[in-house]
Amino acid sequence: MPSLPQRLAAVDERISAAARSAGRDPAEITRIVVTKFHPARLVRELFDLGVRNFGENRQQELTAKAEETSDLDGLRWHFIGQLQTKKARQVAAHASVVHSVDRDRIAQALERAARPDDHLDVLLQINLTEDAARGGAAPADILPLAERIAGSSVLRLRGVMAVAPLDAEPAEAFAELAAHAARVRSIVPDARWISAGMSADLEEAVAAGATHLRIGTAITGERPSGA
Ligand SMILES: *Cc1c(COP(=O)(O)O)cnc(C)c1O
Repeated sequence: MPSLPQRLAAVDERISAAARSAGRDPAEITRIVVTKFHPARLVRELFDLGVRNFGENRQQELTAKAEETSDLDGLRWHFIGQLQTKKARQVAAHASVVHSVDRDRIAQALERAARPDDHLDVLLQINLTEDAARGGAAPADILPLAERIAGSSVLRLRGVMAVAPLDAEPAEAFAELAAHAARVRSIVPDARWISAGMSADLEEAVAAGATHLRIGTAITGERPSGA
């Protein structure tokens, strides 16, 4: 089993190679390490290796780890999981970016939770499956939601996020996401971020223009069992 520094370096090499073959600058790609189900100790180890962007998908875990690592300067938390309105306050308190805004009520809850003199960066999560229970806005709801967020003085719409469906070719899913991203930019031209790509499909995501990759297991190793 390669060590943590080796796994991190291997992923970064994959990202650089994918960027090169797409004619892109790897420096324009943010690699977020998803530490869900792993202890705050791992966040510290990764921080010491130079990682600054971390992802969590559950509010309780985000809150606990953010508090345990609050001494680490420059660390940024990305909230990437399905969000409930009653958890919005805690998420807004700790996350620099919320990737999973998928309906009006979530936008409203985050707006209320964020400090009024502050900005909260958000991404509009898009559901690329037919299953409405999966997180993300249905394609028909994307433009109204983008307009809603664009009208907020607190939330700053930075782009879109999606998870490739299990039963689809990642390349096709990410091409579809890129098309939705362009529609969002017709409303908010600055919303250029595309959060896509995980351990298994980061190459396809980079080829399709992803600016933010959410990488878990390829760096952290398997999540503790039961997770
Ligand atoms: C867990 C998770 C990831 C990371 O997945 P890996 O396959 O472990 O790289 C990325 N995005 C979301 C939304 C996740 O929940």
